[in-house]
Formats: sequence, structure tokens, C-alpha cells
Amino acid sequence: MTQPDCYERLRHKLNLFFINTPKAPSILKILAHLFTPEEAELLSLFNAPYLDARTVDTFAKRAKKDIGQVREIFDTLCKRGILFKYFNKNEDTDYYSLMAMLPGLFEFYYSANPSLNLEEEARPAEWFEDYKVNIFQEEARSTFPWVRVLPAAAPVDKLIEVNQAVSSDPEILPFEIAKEVLDQCRRIAVIPCACRVHGRYLGRDVSKWPIETCLMLNSWADFAISQGFGREFSKDEAEQLLHTCSKAGLVHSTMNSMQTYFICNCDPENCLILAGFIRRRYNDTLTRSNFIPAFDHTLCKKCGTCIEKCPTNALSRHYPHASNLEDDFVTWREELCIGCGVCATNCTQGAINLQKVRDSKVKDSLVELWQSFAAGKCGLHNKPQ
Ligand code: SF4
Ligand code: SF4
Ligand code: SF4
Repeated sequence: MTQPDCYERLRHKLNLFFINTPKAPSILKILAHLFTPEEAELLSLFNAPYLDARTVDTFAKRAKKDIGQVREIFDTLCKRGILFKYFNKNEDTDYYSLMAMLPGLFEFYYSANPSLNLEEEARPAEWFEDYKVNIFQEEARSTFPWVRVLPAAAPVDKLIEVNQAVSSDPEILPFEIAKEVLDQCRRIAVIPCACRVHGRYLGRDVSKWPIETCLMLNSWADFAISQGFGREFSKDEAEQLLHTCSKAGLVHSTMNSMQTYFICNCDPENCLILAGFIRRRYNDTLTRSNFIPAFDHTLCKKCGTCIEKCPTNALSRHYPHASNLEDDFVTWREELCIGCGVCATNCTQGAINLQKVRDSKVKDSLVELWQSFAAGKCGLHNKPQ
């Protein structure tokens, strides 16, 4: 069946975001699954994702429709997680904005709707999987990736402690520490992890990880709480969740700027962010943290936990060649390590610490982040000769 033109018009607007939305069959099918033709027609009147936030009356004029009718459609879409709304206190009014395909529609659709009919969601989940793996992973490559890994808190705290004891400047900067990112937040909410909800609709067993693990910050927290799919969290609760996630082998990730709207806790099998790095060996889909693990081999009991928990398979056992076992140790592959600290969090022997080895900086604002991302886009459109 041919798609009505409204979906292509909507795709065209989504394509204006820095991570593009190309014309691909799976994308048009996703849009037709998420939106009725009337909804798609209305949303295609936004000028671009996020940047063109409008009040409902401004938008009703643009759409030449009744204000009440547009408000009803918009508020229904917000409840379903697929239209963004925030309250402007100064003007005492709501503003609505179109979301990008990702970050946006994918995450909020699945986070806001974790318990839909499994059979009905199976096909759309396959279209989203095609989008995630074959389209998004290509479009999200840049010399300045939009996402960066945040190291687990416990090993960084230990590092700071050790450095202070030897009176050296730890030079650990605020954006490198989850606690500081949370301290700068006005509001925090926890929502279900979209990638694992999506994995469940694909029929995968996601039960080995917790589901409610995505931290939304500030206006994204306001949105999730006001639409009923986010639970308000204190900073202590958020820190505790991060520790639980690191113990479970999940990787903290956030936006590559001081201004950020989430801290995700990502698993290696379902995560849209880790997928490019792990499955496709793209090292330009995320920014590694500034830390690497440092091993004290004398303390290591060869229990294998760090090897089993490492999300990127950067660790393995070097079985001894020597009879006296002197070369029996855990090996580390730098090119596969993202500096998440999961290995250090899970080593009960204290044999792994984190060490700061890089000084990569984040951008101050989202505008700078997206400009740098766009300027560094790579890997696309290379037509083989
Ligand atoms: S990016 Fe990570 S935490 Fe966020 S929804 Fe995906 S797996 Fe979950
Ligand atoms: S978790 Fe610790 S003790 Fe176990 S193998 Fe890894 S480094 Fe050694
Ligand atoms: S070795 Fe693995 S678990 Fe440890 S920091 Fe690197 S990627 Fe994370």
C-alpha cells in the first residue's frame, strides 16, 4: 500500500535535525505506525525538531484549525510520549515542539509505552531495529560524537581519594563526574529504558537488567513526570541507581556537553548508543570517558567477573604459558575500552582502579554540541567507485 504524502512531509521536517532521517522504507512505516495521517499532517507544519517550539494558538493559526481541536490532538500525542511539551512560567503557557526521530521519538515512545500489546508491537519493533542498526548508527557518526561515557562513580571517588592523599591535583573536572552532573540539575526523573522495552517487543529476553534506569534531567524530567511515565527522583536516589546499574554491568552515558538532558544506563545488547561501537566497531558513535582501568595484578584472584561484566569485551584471560603461572593475568584491549569503570565497580578484590589518561572536553551548550557534531559528521555518503 502506498504511504500518504503527509508521512514524507513529516520525514522531511525530521530530516532537518543534526542526526538526519533519510528516506528509508522502515522510517516511513514507523511514522505511519506512530501517527494518523491527520496527526502527521499537523506535525509536518512544524519548521524543525526542537528549534521551532510553539504555543497551541500560534500553531492552530498555522494549521488553520480550531485551537481546542489542535490542543486535544497535541495533548494526546504528549501522553503517548511522541510530542514534546514544556511549560513556560513567564508566559503561563505550554509550548509544544516536534521531536527528532532520535533522540526523541524512539526513546519517548518506548519509555512512555512499556506495556503495549506484544503481538501488535512486534512488526513496528522490527522497523525500529532496522532504523537503529542500519540507519541511525550511520547517521550518528562524527569526529565529535553527541554522546559520551560517564565513568562509574565508585572508582572515580577512589581515584580522587588516592590523588588527594598524595597531594597531587586530581584534575577531575565537573563534567567527568555523575554526581556533579546531577548536582547541577533542577529536577530528575527515572523512566523505563527505551532500548530494553524495544528489545522486549522484539521478543528478546531483557530480564537480566533492570528496566527503569533512564534518568531524565530538567525539562525532560518535567515532561516525563507531567505525562505520567516518569517518576520523580532525588539526587541520592539517582546516585544509588547509578551504582546499582554499574554493578549490573550497565554503562552510564550522557550528552557530550555541560548542558544535558539525560544520563542513560546502557546494556551492550539493546542499546542504540553502544550498538554502533560494539556491533559495527565504529569508534565515532560515542566519546570514551577520560579514564582507563589500571590493574594491580598482585591482588587479582582470576575470578573472571570483570571479564564477564565488561560490556565491550575489552578484557580477557591470558592463560599462563609458564609453569610457575607468572604470566597468568587479565588482559586489556585499549581500542575496545570505553572507560566505563564497570570492571572496577565489580572487582571485589580492589584489583582495578581507574586512571585518568585523556583530557577530552565537552561543549558548554547544546548549540555548540550539535554544531560540532554536524561539522564532524563522517562515514556517510561514500559511494564506492
Ligand atoms: S540509550 Fe541506553 S539507557 Fe537510554 S534507552 Fe537506550 S539502552 Fe536505555
Ligand atoms: S574481577 Fe578483579 S579479581 Fe576478578 S579477575 Fe577481574 S581483576 Fe581479577
Ligand atoms: S575494560 Fe571494559 S568494563 Fe573496564 S572500563 Fe574498559 S570498557 Fe569498561
